[in-house]
Amino acid sequence: MMRKHEIPGERALPELCDACGAVILSGLPLYAYVPDSSAVQAGKEWLDGLRFIAACCEEHLNALRDQYRRRPFIEEELWAGKISRALDQHPDGLTAEELGRATGLMLPDIRSAMAWHNRWMHQETQP
Ligand SMILES: [Zn+2]
Repeated sequence: MMRKHEIPGERALPELCDACGAVILSGLPLYAYVPDSSAVQAGKEWLDGLRFIAACCEEHLNALRDQYRRRPFIEEELWAGKISRALDQHPDGLTAEELGRATGLMLPDIRSAMAWHNRWMHQETQP
């Protein structure tokens, strides 16, 4: 017999499957961290390069894992994300030295990341 689903936790938003978008029922979600060079969050520096995924079932969790396994992990993309986060946190700007301290990156890495970002932006704006 089907029972009416209760929203878990106090005022918690229902979680959605990252594969199919279905609302994940209480007690069922499957979670994983997958490598993703585009994953950079403010205040969660220790999770840089890891994306948190939620799925409604084993099949969708595996599909998501496969999807991220096939996505190329690009160091420069990760570094560009760290730079972007640091610049967001310092709207008045940073010197190259301060940017290095804020991101933990060496100057050559910062240059590579900016070059990668510029190439990527150029591709994005192509018709
Ligand atoms: Zn799903």
